[in-house]
Amino acid sequence: MSGPGIHLAAPTVLLLFLLGLPAFAFRSQTSYFFGSSVRNCDTVHTRQQRNTDALLCMKIKVGIIGLPNIGKSTLFNALAQKSIAQAENFPFCTIEPNIAQIVVPDEYLERLGTFSNSDKTMPATMEFIDVAGLVAGASRGEGLGNRFLATIRECDAICHLVRYFEDPDIVHIDGRVDPAQDAEVVNLELILADIAHIERRLEKTTCQGEERDALEKLLLGLQKGIPGRAVGLSADEKLVMKSMGLLTLKPVIYVFNVDEVDFLLDQASIAEKVEGVVSNIRYCDSTMDMHAVISAKLEVEISSMADLNEQQEYLKSVGVEFSPDDDNSFLAQIMSYSVLPKQVRELLDLILVYTGPGVPPERSRTTKAYLYSRAQALTTIKLAERLHGEILRGFIRAEVVPGATLLLHESYNAAKDAGVIRVEGKDAILEDGDVVLIKWK
Ligand code: GDP
Repeated sequence: MSGPGIHLAAPTVLLLFLLGLPAFAFRSQTSYFFGSSVRNCDTVHTRQQRNTDALLCMKIKVGIIGLPNIGKSTLFNALAQKSIAQAENFPFCTIEPNIAQIVVPDEYLERLGTFSNSDKTMPATMEFIDVAGLVAGASRGEGLGNRFLATIRECDAICHLVRYFEDPDIVHIDGRVDPAQDAEVVNLELILADIAHIERRLEKTTCQGEERDALEKLLLGLQKGIPGRAVGLSADEKLVMKSMGLLTLKPVIYVFNVDEVDFLLDQASIAEKVEGVVSNIRYCDSTMDMHAVISAKLEVEISSMADLNEQQEYLKSVGVEFSPDDDNSFLAQIMSYSVLPKQVRELLDLILVYTGPGVPPERSRTTKAYLYSRAQALTTIKLAERLHGEILRGFIRAEVVPGATLLLHESYNAAKDAGVIRVEGKDAILEDGDVVLIKWK
């Protein structure tokens, strides 16, 4: 096999290693809740600012990537099991073998559904895609690399799974468990793939002006080992290269797959160790990247048990006792079907808005959540367009109220009487948690 990518990538690898790039300085201010981590607000703010490139698609896609034999399929199977279980409650399909559609955890939806006496609720969902294993050389097409990379190009965010469990029975591709090194192998492939992609584009005479300038700037950063998202491109620069689907521009969550017993019983020390690993990953920018800790094996065991008692017995067998009263919240705190969508929501700065409450019962009996990027500045008219062509054409005005405020009242009409419901025109920008009622003719 030959091509410009291979020809040009080799000196780049050399360059990166000769440079012996120091680990990036991490601002490690991570607060933990059970089994996963979220960064404090100061870093979130920076990340949100930088991730505000126009994320226009409604269906959020998250690619699960990593080296082979680290637990990706195990994690994916657990998510897929959950997806099938959730599909029994909500009418969405789970047909594709490598896509799991997962409900976005939502503090208001069920409460708003009950408040407005809806027949049903429809949550927002995200797609998690099992991309299969990347190996060193994927950027040159090794191990079906091109196909996998093409799948990642279509994703909005990346869950980069890293093996952090020791098990002599599970062969590691390099014969040793070294999470930081593993993450770097994958990161380097993404960087090399972007370099090759950009170099091919720059060879075209049609690549001119703003696009050429932005790509050259990006290329310089990548050649120093800096992922595209950390090069400091402006929103406009990102926009001109958006259609290229560059891999290192995508926001990343490093997901550490740890031993199930450590995960359940030794969280504090696992959390500390993972922090240490994160700070040692080269080609990673901690002002934007997040990390989480999961146990894929535990997840798949639990998700295969429909019965709560069985789940409880299993958890007891690995040393965890918990009261049946709080098992839902306990599991919801540690399972990736809950932890990962929450982190993706934070990573991409996604908001939830709702329709249903306030609609006369004879018109609609569904309370529904919609997921949007805050950067998109969702207006009432854009939401009307999403709902129905007729609602768009017949738009008169919108009634808007924060869900938390609405829930303080006895009914929609009581909230209206209390004067908390705003009347807005077509261009009002909706906020996270807003409940919207569009009046149309
Ligand atoms: P993939 O190649 O990354 O998709 O890896 P798989 O999900 O197929 O997992 C490879 C092997 O590792 C399987 O035998 C899994 O059962 C095992 N495995 C996955 N996660 C864990 C874990 O957390 N602990 C242990 N001990 N084994 C795991």
